[in-house]
Amino acid sequence: MNVTLSCPACHNAQFEYYLATQDFGVTREPFNLYRCTQCGLLATIPQPDEDQIGRYYASSNYISHTGKHDNRMLKLLYLAVRRIALTGKRKLIEKKYPKGSLLDLGCGTGAFLHEMKRSGWEVTGVEPANIARRQAENILNQRLFTRLDELPQKSYRVITLWHVLEHLHRPDTTLKRCRELLEPGGLLVIAVPNPDSFDALHYRQHWAGFDVPRHLWHFTRQAMKTLLNQQGFTLHQILPMPWDAYYVSLLSEACRKNQNLPARFLKGFFTALKSNLHARKTGAYSSLLYLAMK
Ligand SMILES: [Zn+2]
Repeated sequence: MNVTLSCPACHNAQFEYYLATQDFGVTREPFNLYRCTQCGLLATIPQPDEDQIGRYYASSNYISHTGKHDNRMLKLLYLAVRRIALTGKRKLIEKKYPKGSLLDLGCGTGAFLHEMKRSGWEVTGVEPANIARRQAENILNQRLFTRLDELPQKSYRVITLWHVLEHLHRPDTTLKRCRELLEPGGLLVIAVPNPDSFDALHYRQHWAGFDVPRHLWHFTRQAMKTLLNQQGFTLHQILPMPWDAYYVSLLSEACRKNQNLPARFLKGFFTALKSNLHARKTGAYSSLLYLAMK
């Protein structure tokens, strides 16, 4: 069973069937994943149109992966890890450029921009979700943008997309625009789940990193390298995001829903540990961070 679809990474038109899964977060509707026969990019099929996708984000407490089936403990854990991760993200960028202008695409409630602004960065954010954007505007005490094309003509030293690219209908068009917005020598930072990770292969259709249909695309390393290359970026480094294995594994256990909470917690914890140990040899961490230069 093949489908015809233009691959946003390599422009190949052939996709082969990969996996059947479902929306575990909001609607329980079934979706399939198809793989580009050339670069390995996975596509969610069917892909709800831009004017239809809103209802799949309908859960009132959707923060990143936090759907209505989550519990308090997972949410607290998510927030605690995010706090630690924020410092790590800032230091990673400041190792390359100590200060400058930064644009965060899909900035959510603005926690990362706040961290950067406090450290002296001149920040801008784009966030289509009204509630999240207003919260970010309050925290940052500045106006943010709803869409990429609303941004004023200006260039940035750093553009970040933290778990955002997989949500976009046209990742190729977005990266093209990012390249125009970057200063020469500017840094592009992209974090995405890795469908080739140990935990992805272990949980299969229950892997929370698929998060269909909110995630429209699933980037293997080959697919991401191809996409960056096609859009004129030079891949500089691929870094692990080892914390994500824990969060994603715990959520994946919740998608399975057939065991009590302590069992889910233990199984999730050990799967994540195994995934990270495995990835030390293969590099296939649960989520990966791509640093690319203009
Ligand atoms: Zn492809």
